[in-house]
Amino acid sequence: MTKSILVTGGSRGIGRAAAILAGARGWSVAVNYVGNAAAAAETVAAVEQSGGRAVAIRGDVASEADVIAMFDATLKSFGRIDGLVNNAGIVAPSSRLADASLARMRRVFDVNVVGAYLCAREAVRRMARSRGGGGGAIVNVSSMAAVLGGANEYVDYAGSKGAVDTMTVGLAREVGIDGVRVNAVRPGVIETEIHASGGKPERAAQLGPQTPLGRAGTAEEVGEAIVWLLSDAASYVNGAILNVSAGR
Ligand code: NAP
Repeated sequence: MTKSILVTGGSRGIGRAAAILAGARGWSVAVNYVGNAAAAAETVAAVEQSGGRAVAIRGDVASEADVIAMFDATLKSFGRIDGLVNNAGIVAPSSRLADASLARMRRVFDVNVVGAYLCAREAVRRMARSRGGGGGAIVNVSSMAAVLGGANEYVDYAGSKGAVDTMTVGLAREVGIDGVRVNAVRPGVIETEIHASGGKPERAAQLGPQTPLGRAGTAEEVGEAIVWLLSDAASYVNGAILNVSAGR
């Protein structure tokens, strides 16, 4: 039986790239999405074309019932779960904190923090050796914003990713002995649709040339780091946070 992973937010962007690369490297992939069923179906087809098995699973990571159901569906589809790419995340339209509504802050923290923690919890419940699991790996998708702060754009989003970094370190120390490695990537400026969702479709094109490598990154370049951290090639890497940001 091939090893299987759940990729939250696997329908588009970085999650999609990670799902396709993982499929090509032999993983069976559960592709989670929240609203864009067509994109999820397209990613499933691309994973299958790359040689992997795949299934699309709808669910909002901010909903505990949805998260439990998506892990159950992954197990039902593939018979086992060996990894989680904790990738689903959102930005709200660019704003100074002084102008941000409570509803906006709540949604950013619900999806990016509560969602990531819930998914990590469900993954550990199923993968930890002390709970009958076979061990596994979690890769959290943080952001360089956690370090840079997101001033004038999204200080709330940056803080949510700071929480993801802290969870990475703490959970790695908590469950390493249980056979579960926990690591994170911090993408920099990556060409995906997230910038348009924040009201700045040109953001990657504008900021890319200001990075030390002179360009924005691709989703595939982040996917490579994610799939490496998932793999046995990273078997002694635990609690690490890998910047994939051109040195920005
Ligand atoms: P994206 O292109 O906007 O894709 C977002 C993905 O997340 C989609 O698959 C979307 O599903 C899913 N999603 C959104 N809300 C969800 C929810 N509540 N429950 C489940 N799935 C949900 O974003 P991206 O740029 O690939 O970002 C992926 C991750 O990388 C995020 O955590 C983001 O913070 C982080 N990141 C991105 C950048 C960048 O420059 N792109 C930089 C640093 C960090 P639907 O298709 O159904 O909408």
